[in-house]
Amino acid sequence: ALTVPDKQVDSVCPYCGVGCQLTYNIKDNRILYVEGRDGPANHGRLCVKGRYGFDYAHHPHRLTKPLIRRADAPAKRGDFTMDPERVYDVFREATWDEALDAAGLGLARIRDTHGRRSLAGFGSAKCSNEEAYLFQKLVRTGFGSNNVDHCTRLCHASSVAALLEGIGSGAVSNPVMDVTRAEVVIVIGANPTVNHPVAATWMKNAAAAGTKLVVCDPRRSDLAPHAHRYLQFKPDTDVALLNAMMHTIVTEGLVDRAFIESRTIGYDELERNVADYSPEQMAPICGIDADTIRYVARLYATSKASMILWGMGISQHVHGTDNARCLIALALMTGQIGRPGTGLHPLRGQNNVQGASDAGLIPMMYPDYQRVNTPGVRDKFAQAWNVDPATLDDQPGLTVVEVMDAILAGSVKGMYIMGENPAMSDPDANHARDALAALDHLVVQDIFLTETAYLADVILPASAFPEKTGTFTNTDRMVQLGRQALAPPGDARQDLWIIQQLARRLGLAWNYGHPAEVFDEMRGTMPSIAGITWDRLERESSVTYPCTEEGAAGEPIVFTEQFPLQGGRARFVPADIIPADERPDDEYPLVLITGRQLEHWHTGSMTRRTVVLDALEPDPVALVHPLDLAALGGQPGDVVTIESRRGRVALYARADDSSPRGAIFVPFCYYEAAINKLTNPALDPFGKIPEFKYCAIRVRLG
Ligand code: SF4
Repeated sequence: ALTVPDKQVDSVCPYCGVGCQLTYNIKDNRILYVEGRDGPANHGRLCVKGRYGFDYAHHPHRLTKPLIRRADAPAKRGDFTMDPERVYDVFREATWDEALDAAGLGLARIRDTHGRRSLAGFGSAKCSNEEAYLFQKLVRTGFGSNNVDHCTRLCHASSVAALLEGIGSGAVSNPVMDVTRAEVVIVIGANPTVNHPVAATWMKNAAAAGTKLVVCDPRRSDLAPHAHRYLQFKPDTDVALLNAMMHTIVTEGLVDRAFIESRTIGYDELERNVADYSPEQMAPICGIDADTIRYVARLYATSKASMILWGMGISQHVHGTDNARCLIALALMTGQIGRPGTGLHPLRGQNNVQGASDAGLIPMMYPDYQRVNTPGVRDKFAQAWNVDPATLDDQPGLTVVEVMDAILAGSVKGMYIMGENPAMSDPDANHARDALAALDHLVVQDIFLTETAYLADVILPASAFPEKTGTFTNTDRMVQLGRQALAPPGDARQDLWIIQQLARRLGLAWNYGHPAEVFDEMRGTMPSIAGITWDRLERESSVTYPCTEEGAAGEPIVFTEQFPLQGGRARFVPADIIPADERPDDEYPLVLITGRQLEHWHTGSMTRRTVVLDALEPDPVALVHPLDLAALGGQPGDVVTIESRRGRVALYARADDSSPRGAIFVPFCYYEAAINKLTNPALDPFGKIPEFKYCAIRVRLG
């Protein structure tokens, strides 16, 4: 018989940063199906994840009781393959009071014994703005340090470092939809058909309507066939390619002098720097012929409106900040910013990585990017939070990768992790797992027994995305309302409640009844969203910031008049070629590139528990160039072992010529072949982002 929903609830998609609006169709507390809604970013469109990626919420692996590590549990070990079916070999069920006391009082004991910097917290870009805000407030006022971070450190931290330095704001200047108003669009180091699929449809539509789409990437994405030009530059040569484009623009007199003189500083130094990067000199380095470099540079500089979008291919390098600096300089020297169809758009990965960062879930800044060590800022937040300023740390805290090193060095002894899975997502994952296993006290709040939760002392069962209400900020700076559609299963609770219960055990008297109360407090400390009311979000579902006054429209396009830096001027920052930290050699002759698949999300804890998505991509795969596979003597479907200096995994080979020979792509969502055991933790010195997009490996059959 046809199953008819008994309830419809409007919300947003929990996966990527595009922020598609959707409607859940519910019956008997189960999601029957999902439909696209006419939101400003998707206009009814959804990708395969947004349409089919929800039955994880009903999966039998859901955590429904608080858990405490058994006294006779096996010793924590970094090298493990987790079996969620055997949860009771390691943990025993507990009441909420028992688990919260064990979790909160354990953290308080470490703080009081070893000092406030002995604790750290990782929040999540999967959580709402309100959850992110309360989480960072708990770390700052309850732990007493700025040791708080989340997966933004692994995705666009370098882009944000360059944007804050160059134009004074880490967010995008123009929405994705502006590709339909651009004459030229450059998409570089991004694979939107996989990672931002609905955004990719707007890019394809724009190309079909006459926009000249230029795709630049060492891996040929499904967007490339739609491109006016596809530049398959060599991995790790971004700065060579981009500086050669800037060299062309300078030497051919295509710079926008009026824009440079009225709205920027530092141009002369940039011009001197790119003089050494002629297309002829850079062609053999980046693998793109000089004529093509010149053609694309002219195209970008001379169009009426040119826009640049980029992804993790730009950011996840030890020179990620330099890569982004070059993109910013390209836009500034040609005046291609501050108008419709122009600007800079780092495509955000997670659905709320923008909002979580805005809300202060980062170690160097309070909400709205107010630096912890800027005079006056600490006092302002102490007053807003009604605490003694001396209790707030005035030094930036540790970043994601630095926390792991600090644990093994003995300075961090306890952690609270909400909704992140560093045992899978951190580079050199064996190192991260050894660190998590070495903690005196680990509290994990999640919906599944993740690889990280497996190493916990206390696990707090949380709510899945459709089980809670909150705001989420997409890649376009749209603050959107996600609405609760389901009741959490068993004794699982909403994250906002759990955070507050822990806060109380750390001595904080909080009592927020509804996410709207948290959002109201946020508006008081975050000028960018001060004008957005909860009522308006209820009515309109989406408001773009900056929105500083109630009733203001919001600003989809920023920097029309000036930049939010001193004097209102943007800053050029030149970049030189810095090689990857670990180059191929005789022992490890190939290159590993990691990333996502269309069907799976990050560490796979949700999508590998959805029936349709898991059926589409059930097994760990390595995408190997057919000629490389043949050279190994292998066939598609054969098992190959990939090894770096840090670890080894075995997985199935798939013949795929989208990557150049010698470069192997592996998604990082498969726990049974956790590829981040191999990746290099070397950091970009500015954004502190690890080099996921390049390390040396070797491969063998079997
Ligand atoms: Fe969800 Fe992103 Fe797909 Fe939209 S494009 S449905 S936000 S995963």
